[in-house]
Amino acid sequence: MAQQHIYLDYNATAPVHPEVIETVARIMARVGNASSVHGPGRNARQDVEAARDAVARLVGAESRNVIFTSGGTEADNLALKGAGDRRLMVSASEHGAVLAPALLHDPGAVILPVDGDGLLDLVALRQALQTAGKPALVSVMLANNETGVIQPVAKIAEIGHAHGALVHCDAVQSAGKIPVDIVALGVDLMSLSAHKIGGPQGVGALVLSGDVEIEAEIVGGGQELGRRSGTENVAGIAGFGKAAEIALARLGDCQKLAASRDEMERRLGEVAPKRRIFGGNVPRLPNTSCVSMPRVRSDTQVMAFDLAGIAISAGSACSSGKVSASHVLEAMGVERDEAMTAIRVSMGWATQPAEIDRFIEVWSDIYQRSGRHADAA
Ligand code: PLP
Repeated sequence: MAQQHIYLDYNATAPVHPEVIETVARIMARVGNASSVHGPGRNARQDVEAARDAVARLVGAESRNVIFTSGGTEADNLALKGAGDRRLMVSASEHGAVLAPALLHDPGAVILPVDGDGLLDLVALRQALQTAGKPALVSVMLANNETGVIQPVAKIAEIGHAHGALVHCDAVQSAGKIPVDIVALGVDLMSLSAHKIGGPQGVGALVLSGDVEIEAEIVGGGQELGRRSGTENVAGIAGFGKAAEIALARLGDCQKLAASRDEMERRLGEVAPKRRIFGGNVPRLPNTSCVSMPRVRSDTQVMAFDLAGIAISAGSACSSGKVSASHVLEAMGVERDEAMTAIRVSMGWATQPAEIDRFIEVWSDIYQRSGRHADAA
């Protein structure tokens, strides 16, 4: 029988809720294009609109301001490219889904520094806005996917607006983990992704606030009020809606994960006093820990954990066979050697205390085998 993995990689993608699977399967079994005027089409339209209401409720937005997309990446691209000719300003710790379109779309894009805790440098933001020379769009994530560090987005929005900028917030990792309210945050555009909250992969949303408008990136049949053409992914969107409903109802459960996470970090510190928690001094998502194992490379750890039946992720990126340090840790000023020993542990709705205990046991084993002697040297 195949080994059942202990899954601690929710920030990569979360297990889909059974109720979501049931919703997606039920709708996929039915015919209907949401643009058709006949009965099956009207049923599909109803499913899409019910999901729009649920996603809007999750982030305190108005339903008509929810634009369904193919995921967080498309939502980020749409926000950055659809806001017109603006000076793009993004934090150095953004996801590639924000960094790449910023650099592609605006050759003069400003990459704003973060401090050692991963928090945006607000002085640098003010300076950049003062010297922008044209209207800006500031894009800062609410919580970081690698460290879980939560940015002071309401403050960032206030500063941005005082300088006439539009403010976009990538809330892909925050929704369902901490309360997210587009009005309280004061941002103009917000990206979401279904698969980070127990919904299906390949569906997300760009949410607008008030009367903000964007220019469509994908044009064609005029769906989503002309803001994103293409036949709606009705089953995926309905699954997203169901996941949003569950995420909102169970927000409190996710908050409780912080106690398990903190206890886990404390116990790892007993095993290896030099282990470092990145972003550990500032507010973080309750489910995320980015932790170094002294002297043991993250790719070695990921493989050892995998062999032990535990899925975690490296705090480093591997492309074309070369492992490089994470740009997020690099932006935080972490030395390359230490950054190369970071892993990310991210928990979620199905995580059991016994799974965390097992993780700590395996972490200790790997450290005793590989890191301890070198660490003492
Ligand atoms: N933004 C952040 C912060 C993310 O963590 C991710 C996915 O890891 C994305 C955007 C991209 O979302 P998607 O996988 O839905 O394209």
